Amino acid sequence: MEFELTPELKELQQRALHFVEQELIPHEMTVDTTEALPKEIRAQIQQKALDYGLWPMNVPKELGGLGSSVMEQTIVQEQAGRATNGLWAHVGGPYNALLRGNEAQRKKYLEPAMRGEWTVAYAVTEPDAGSDTTNLQTTAVKKGDRWVINGNKWFVSGGHEGLAVLVHTITGPGEETLFFVDHGTPGMRTVRTPRFMHRQEDRHPEMAFENCEVGEEQLLGGIGEANNISKSWFREERLHIAARCLGAAQRLLEEAKVWCAERESFGSKLHEHQGIGWMLADSATELYAARLMVYATSSEEDAGRSDPKELHTKASMCKLYASEMVGRVADRVVQIFGGRGYCADYAAERLYRDVRVDRIWEGTSEIMRSVIVNGVMKRDLNRMLGG
Ligand SMILES: Cc1cc2nc3c(=O)[nH]c(=O)nc-3n(C[C@H](O)[C@H](O)[C@H](O)COP(=O)(O)OP(=O)(O)OC[C@H]3O[C@@H](n4cnc5c(N)ncnc54)[C@H](O)[C@@H]3O)c2cc1C
Repeated sequence: MEFELTPELKELQQRALHFVEQELIPHEMTVDTTEALPKEIRAQIQQKALDYGLWPMNVPKELGGLGSSVMEQTIVQEQAGRATNGLWAHVGGPYNALLRGNEAQRKKYLEPAMRGEWTVAYAVTEPDAGSDTTNLQTTAVKKGDRWVINGNKWFVSGGHEGLAVLVHTITGPGEETLFFVDHGTPGMRTVRTPRFMHRQEDRHPEMAFENCEVGEEQLLGGIGEANNISKSWFREERLHIAARCLGAAQRLLEEAKVWCAERESFGSKLHEHQGIGWMLADSATELYAARLMVYATSSEEDAGRSDPKELHTKASMCKLYASEMVGRVADRVVQIFGGRGYCADYAAERLYRDVRVDRIWEGTSEIMRSVIVNGVMKRDLNRMLGG
């Protein structure tokens, strides 16, 4: 087993770190106070992400993307996670669902996303269906050669802008299907845009689809394909969330280390007080464990060693452990900074708010545990856990 990064991965890591420090971190306070960046700055960042070779990583070369390995994407997402206020979204790539489009859909939706001009919003969650997607109520009913969509979607990240929203619908008993609904389609509207704990450029509006008609050409990947497409997205994004949690925890720990070494109380440096020193020790240990899990799962996926179901379980383990780990680290680091840790001028305060959602979106920690239990009961433990 080899845990040393190759020279190529180390170079990528340094390139991503440089991008994050030069192009993302300087904008954190603007987004924290205004929840937006001027259009020209956003375009500039997106162009730099392309120039640095950090977008679109998850699109295969034959479609014009970078065709990056899972490990390469993990390394970059990790560095991106150092940035607060959702600025990490400027690196990586679009929802991999866009890869499932036909030629016309790729031209219309994937190509501009590859140029960094937009990312699609992905609307699954509803007021009465979050973790439990068996409660989904949004329907798409065939009428001639058109589909009529009715339903309400909540927490539609990025639903306030861009070209379209990808809407997860019920098209028949046990049959779930995705449709692109372009902004401006009659019957589609934003009901409300609530505020959230984090301050990001992305909004997460509640949206309604009322007798909203789309043509057959808006159907993505075939009737009944929604679950397969979403599952493949979950596996990719759960691993990316876990990777970003590593970067966030690393920055928190680095900042806490500097602070501990300079701050004195009662005649000692902060870390010389056992109560504080042990917080650093626990944080470093847990970060190290999480990093090994995420790197191992990523390289296993690249090597094709695990089957997709095993990987689904492992991606859930990574998300569960890394998101809970960074929550603990952020909590400790706020405490280590004292009053400053509660002040938005400090990354600790912003990361404390930012990382909370990593235990909720793309499947809550409780749902991760139920995915993992399922894997434990169905799969060979030695094979899955390397025992
Ligand atoms: C900022 C933000 C952005 C989001 N972006 C999107 C998006 O772009 N697209 C999208 O479709 N969704 C999005 N979501 C929705 C997110 O995926 C859901 O919030 C999440 O899946 C949980 O669903 P819920 O909020 O309905 O909670 P519920 O499912 O109602 O769960 C409430 C609580 O009960 C627990 N629970 C539920 N079932 C079980 C069980 N079987 N066992 C144990 N505990 C259980 C949950 O873990 C949770 O703690 C976003 C959410 C947020 C906060």
